[in-house]
Amino acid sequence: MIERAEISAPLSGVKRSWAEIDLSQIKRNYLLYKNSIGNDVEIIAVVKANAYGHGDVAVAGALATEGVKAFAVSNIDEAIRLRRGGISGEVIVLGYTPPSRAVDIWRYGVTQTLISREYADALISCTERRLKAQFAIDTGMNRIGLDGRLPMECADAVRKYADCFQLNGVFTHLCAADGASPAEREFTRLQIKRFAHVAELIADMRLPYVHCLNSAGGLYYGQLPCHVGRIARLGIVLYGLKPSFENQLPRGILPALSWKTAVTMVKNVRAGETVGYGCAYLAEKDIRLATLSTGYADGYSRALSNVGHVLINGKKAPLVGRVCMDQMMADVSDIPNVKMGDVATLLGVSGDLSITADWMGKTVGTIGYEIVCGISERVERVYKN
Ligand SMILES: *Cc1c(COP(=O)(O)O)cnc(C)c1O
Repeated sequence: MIERAEISAPLSGVKRSWAEIDLSQIKRNYLLYKNSIGNDVEIIAVVKANAYGHGDVAVAGALATEGVKAFAVSNIDEAIRLRRGGISGEVIVLGYTPPSRAVDIWRYGVTQTLISREYADALISCTERRLKAQFAIDTGMNRIGLDGRLPMECADAVRKYADCFQLNGVFTHLCAADGASPAEREFTRLQIKRFAHVAELIADMRLPYVHCLNSAGGLYYGQLPCHVGRIARLGIVLYGLKPSFENQLPRGILPALSWKTAVTMVKNVRAGETVGYGCAYLAEKDIRLATLSTGYADGYSRALSNVGHVLINGKKAPLVGRVCMDQMMADVSDIPNVKMGDVATLLGVSGDLSITADWMGKTVGTIGYEIVCGISERVERVYKN
């Protein structure tokens, strides 16, 4: 029989898998970015995809206290979430909203991107209201927007549809601004030139939102002629990550999210034994093994199996075996006294070491964006002001 008094339970206060989001770091990133490209630049905070996994309402709320007045999301449901979370100001939907949801665009006072003339017509056919809208201009990405190689036609469309919509802007998206090669630089300059041409043709309309810069655009092309370069749609750098691995960020801009998990069990594994699914790891010597309570269903990439590592007590613990759906195992042989209830850092800082989403993305053949967007809903978000 176990006496209750004998029980010590170090795990009882520890969560399973959680992300700590430092809202003050996001505010700092915003201010440092603005400072580096010109404090007169207005920022549209891009908080789509749940603010790149950081929590859209919390992030937008924090930035609103710093004076941010405009937010961008990818779809109408994200926009509604912001409104229900108490976010006022401009909310721009950057992507497709089914025309059948025109009533929501109206009801929540959202600004909808017009993808094409055909899309604009479809919206008009679904509502009597003059919806708030911005035209996308395609200056070379070939994704959405009016054909920016034909600036006169773009300008005509913008004027024509101004009767049916409350048009408050036009924008384009730079798709190679993070690249440093001469070809990418030349391409980006061409995109900006095309956009500037359209902007000039409609300058008399005095639309308040004429914008083309994303995070990388602001960093590398922030010194633009006034009419196109004074607004930036800031996404990834807000979160302290880089548009591309090779980029350098202004000093002090740092990741705002740490991802942690519990050590749930520690044990010895003998030389010759294997670990996990497919027996994909063979212990060549006796090791000490920790089981962690995060897996690929939490968004932790299975591609890190036998490749990635976590941090425990400021030291590296290599992952051994395959990442499971809800758990994974790490070799803690070189870390003294690891025990149930310890915290393992999956992303973030521990002692002198850190693991960044940018590094993790590069390691698994993707980008930091996909790493943070992939942290699933079941990972609890914890906010620090
Ligand atoms: C996602 C997105 C952004 C933000 O890009 P970052 O590289 O994260 O700054 C800006 N504009 C559009 C149209 C987007 O879709």
